[in-house]
Amino acid sequence: MPALDVTYKTLVNDSKEITDLGSIAGLLSWDQETMMPPKAIEAKARQLSLMSGIIHRRQTDEKRGEWIDKLAAGLDELAPEKQATVLECRRVFDKLRKLPPELVEEESRLCSLAHDEWIKARRESKFEIFAPWLEKIFVIKKRIADYWGYPDTPYDAMLDDYEPGSTTASVGGVLGDLRDKLVPWVHGIAASSVKPRTDFLSRGFPKDAQRELGLAVIRAIGFDLDAGRVDISAHPFCSGTGNDVRLTTRYFEDQPFASFYGMIHEAGHGLYEQGLHPEHLGAPLGSSSTMSIHESQSRLWENVIGRSKSFIAHFEKDLRSAYPEQLRDVSIDEIYAAVNRVQPSLIRVEADEVTYGLHIVVRFEIERELMSGALPVADLPAAWNARMEKYLGITPPNDAEGCLQDVHWSLGLVGYFPSYALGSLNAAQLFAAARRDLPGLDAKLAAGEYKVLLEWLREKVHRLGRRYTPDDLIEHVTGKRPSADDFMAYIADKFGGLYGVKV
Ligand code: ZN
Repeated sequence: MPALDVTYKTLVNDSKEITDLGSIAGLLSWDQETMMPPKAIEAKARQLSLMSGIIHRRQTDEKRGEWIDKLAAGLDELAPEKQATVLECRRVFDKLRKLPPELVEEESRLCSLAHDEWIKARRESKFEIFAPWLEKIFVIKKRIADYWGYPDTPYDAMLDDYEPGSTTASVGGVLGDLRDKLVPWVHGIAASSVKPRTDFLSRGFPKDAQRELGLAVIRAIGFDLDAGRVDISAHPFCSGTGNDVRLTTRYFEDQPFASFYGMIHEAGHGLYEQGLHPEHLGAPLGSSSTMSIHESQSRLWENVIGRSKSFIAHFEKDLRSAYPEQLRDVSIDEIYAAVNRVQPSLIRVEADEVTYGLHIVVRFEIERELMSGALPVADLPAAWNARMEKYLGITPPNDAEGCLQDVHWSLGLVGYFPSYALGSLNAAQLFAAARRDLPGLDAKLAAGEYKVLLEWLREKVHRLGRRYTPDDLIEHVTGKRPSADDFMAYIADKFGGLYGVKV
């Protein structure tokens, strides 16, 4: 075997071991959120911190750097797939090594204090409590950006950390277009006389029935329950990969569709993880891509498929046998309208498909200005409220329901929000491509044949791992760069019909 191939194999095996260490840590976190007895918290925190130290040492080991250097010097001799692997390893290694350990520790200390202050600030709904901490977070983020480097502005470095290859200009272009096209829809729907019926939603839906129905639905779309499981946690998530994918949900008796769609959403993430290339599992070619791709999978199944009329009609029998009394006088059309109700709201995580993107635009525009210095931290609440009024037509009555609602900034997650909206756009763009590639897809989905779509996603997205950067992957599969076009066509078709609105 030529020397370069031996080095490549060594790098890949090392990457797989690091991923395994990450999976062990992930299982500890899963346990903490689902099963752990309360008194175990201290030991668990110690174990998790031990694991993250071990993982960081392995990721930044000099030896890894030497293998990467050697492979990078002979890059042209490697097959394209292997080149992609080396470049991805290089990207992650450089990012971690460029930051001085003191700065990493300083950020972690700052964020743990800032997070406590954010909890207090949100409880008392007083932005002034959190403001000095947020100021410090943005100062340290600019220092981090300087170490990482950026093409144009420090915020580029933040965005690139979550979506490699993206910049303030590229994300700003897509989200600006989305904003300009969505706002008229929000205002048009608000003025519509169509008001979906919602009275039946609070009738009392037994948790056991919710669980059984949810399991039947995720099994039907292809989630393998012999390679995964579903448990209860306060905040739903999906963790694990390959043949061990753990989903969580929660059940509210007066919100039956929260767990219904929550489970489909997490199963969408899970289908992606279960569909990764088995041979490359744990190496870059067998690891899931960024959040804008992960979120495209969850939102495709939850919204594009799960909230379609044909999906609800397909599961009508299951819904009626799970909730015979609760749905006795409710038609399929009424369920369809209720689960697709559009209403501007203050809280991002409760937002519908139409207004959700605008919640993200508010955060993106504010982060961009906080990073550039155009917006002083003290003026954040006013800037937030003005944008909520302009885009969604509502003004938060207080900071807790306004700029203090999300945990992200207090944890130092700057540049993270755009991925959520990009996930919705990517979902629509991928589905439009699937429809072009697969004649008769709509009829098959209406008949409950979800496998044909899942297999297409497996081949086009899941099996490729991190072969491409996220935007390149979308272009590779759909033939064009990510944009708001297919998403807006989807919105116009679905919500134009539901609300009798034309924009
Ligand atoms: Zn998600």
